[in-house]
Amino acid sequence: MDIIITHEQADFDAAGSVLAAWLLDPSRMPILPKKRNRNLASFIDDYKSRLPFFTWKTLPKGTIRRILITDTQNIALHERMEGVKDIIVWDHHPHRHIFPDREENIYENTGACTTFLVERLMDHPEIHPGRIFATLMLMGIYEDTGSLTYGTTTARDIRAAAWLVEQGGDLDLMRRYVLQPMTDHQQQGCELLLQTLESYEVNGKQISIAMADIREISDEFSAVAHHLRDMLNPDGLILLLGVKTGVRMICRSTTDEIDFGAMMRVMNGGGHTRAASGLIPVEYMETGNAADILSDAREKVLRALPEYIKPPAPNLADKMKKGMSPEQLKLIRLIDETAEQLDTPVYIVGGVVRDLLLDHPVMDFDIVTEGDAIRLGKELSARYGGRLVLHPQFFTAKWEIPNGTSLDLISARSESYEYPAALPTVAMSGMKDDLMRRDFTINTLAVRLDGEHYGKLLDLCGGLTDLEAHLIHTLHKQSFIDDPTRMFRAVRFEQRFDFELEADTLRQLREQLEGVQLLTGQRIWHELRLYCAEPYPENNFARIVQLGIAAQVHSALCWTDEMEADQVRFRDAKRAAYWNDVISADLDTTDREGPLWIWLSSFPLKTVIELGERLLMPKKTQRIIEGLSQLRTDFPLISRKSPSQITFFLEKLPAESLYCYSLFCPESEKALIKNYILKWRHIHPTFTGEDLIEMGIEPGPQMRTLLTGLRAACLDLDLNPEEETEWLEMSIEKGL
Ligand code: ATP
Repeated sequence: MDIIITHEQADFDAAGSVLAAWLLDPSRMPILPKKRNRNLASFIDDYKSRLPFFTWKTLPKGTIRRILITDTQNIALHERMEGVKDIIVWDHHPHRHIFPDREENIYENTGACTTFLVERLMDHPEIHPGRIFATLMLMGIYEDTGSLTYGTTTARDIRAAAWLVEQGGDLDLMRRYVLQPMTDHQQQGCELLLQTLESYEVNGKQISIAMADIREISDEFSAVAHHLRDMLNPDGLILLLGVKTGVRMICRSTTDEIDFGAMMRVMNGGGHTRAASGLIPVEYMETGNAADILSDAREKVLRALPEYIKPPAPNLADKMKKGMSPEQLKLIRLIDETAEQLDTPVYIVGGVVRDLLLDHPVMDFDIVTEGDAIRLGKELSARYGGRLVLHPQFFTAKWEIPNGTSLDLISARSESYEYPAALPTVAMSGMKDDLMRRDFTINTLAVRLDGEHYGKLLDLCGGLTDLEAHLIHTLHKQSFIDDPTRMFRAVRFEQRFDFELEADTLRQLREQLEGVQLLTGQRIWHELRLYCAEPYPENNFARIVQLGIAAQVHSALCWTDEMEADQVRFRDAKRAAYWNDVISADLDTTDREGPLWIWLSSFPLKTVIELGERLLMPKKTQRIIEGLSQLRTDFPLISRKSPSQITFFLEKLPAESLYCYSLFCPESEKALIKNYILKWRHIHPTFTGEDLIEMGIEPGPQMRTLLTGLRAACLDLDLNPEEETEWLEMSIEKGL
């Protein structure tokens, strides 16, 4: 027999998830514990005959082979479960690693556990839950998400609730059970609690603690906690209730910055960040003085609390003053004022905040608004002039400011990937989604700019902790699959800041290396080019080889000491002025891409051609790298030959290849290239083709041989015009 079970003191989400699991596979027996919360108990009493649930007592005899646990990872063992190994867990609480990992286990981050089971029901058009079942599951979602109002509510909960209403979920019926008034006992407890209510400030948060001895009141108090939280609206509320076994704690918070779930997990309980409960066991509860016991519990809770409350967000106003130019600060002030008047939160996000915290100079920043960037742009340009370029499909605008600079204004957005390595699909969203779409925690930091919030750091993904720990850390284990360019980015930040890849991130990278093969050549080329702007590009090349990223681009890519030495010489070389006339327009590109050209040209020509195809390099770049590769293989030999042979060889290659090569090749070869640039390439005979026609030579192979030979003689023997004539006459005589 297979069974479905859930936690003690079952609520609607527990029952809703058991019911949904049963609908998905009716061969499993759905069991509810005897202890249920009041709301669920009265619903089940009213609809018992129409519900499929068993209790341990009514469960038919038979051996239990497989167990499915929903909505908890903390289950009291029933004697009939002893020895059963085949256990699957479906839960929406953080994974606690209590049960062995199995493929069938599901831990999803939805407001209610029922939600992700309902999502699976939605894939089965043949299943019609009908009014009572749909209402029970709906109550599961409503109760756990505070009627879809808690911060933990996700769009998925709302979609699942909408589907249940379509399936007959009855809101009138639901209201009768979910929003019940408090019982007399609960009201009595509430009064007692209010009498002892005290408020404390812990890490900048207001925490209200109330205590009551309820040993004589047998009712559940989560409804009371809700009621008090709504009435008092503190950042955190803790009820300390003297019960027969000790002090029961019921905790509610109105902010994710207080993690009651984590606190209760170390206090014999558990739950979510914002709603959790636990127990301080007290053996002498029967005989002890309740007031003293409760006061001791309060001391204990107050001592533990700071660890679970994030300290107040640092303010970066001072760092901004130091790290930004007066022009940047002036611009930020304009945005701050405009956004405040529009009542729109605005932020600087990502690299700029990371750099401010690291005391690195800030080069550039964009503005992200938790609203409509286009509206913000229109207001800014109406007030301060300039031109606005709109990109409504991306919810962004570029404000071209009268001072000649420009600023990107971006609406906070979520991104999703249709398939691995695809470009993301964008939708307007809140700041949390905007931060969650980013690559690494250190790039998710944001600073708010509008009004009284000016300078406040927003750190929703633990970016500050990782920045302080010098870690490059992905936001989720799918990150490199979604976008394998992040592997190249991870290396860039790791090398630039001398940070480390966090252990899980490194593991994910190693496991997901093959994703690089799905990237287009342009995207890889873009990432490789960015390495060239780093202070030590070679460290990045060496690291992508070491991590196995480079081999996914081309199996021949490797890194050697000689390659390193080339890069160091290139970086230290002085750019001689005589190059300016030759490649002045392209010198920039050479300096920007040189390290990459040098590395890629170290490979045999065949590999270089394959790399050009894989990376979809611009044709000109490909020719330059091929030229460099030829210089590396052939020039050491050719350099020992005559000026004409050297000139004819060098002439065939792009000037950028010569320039780049001259920056890291041996001095002797460099001197020859200099000679070629300054002198040899300008040496041509005074005789032209026309002169030869006058001398009776027909255009064709003979003329070409004569002219080439004459140029070689000019280069090698430094002929004057008379000697050129002699050379020609002699050659024609010899039948050349
Ligand atoms: P740099 O100092 O090299 O410019 P940056 O962090 O400013 O680094 P950008 O490439 O300018 O990097 O990107 C700006 C921000 O956009 C990043 O800080 C990051 O939050 C986000 N971002 C950029 N590329 C990705 C990506 N591939 N995946 C997820 N987020 C990204």
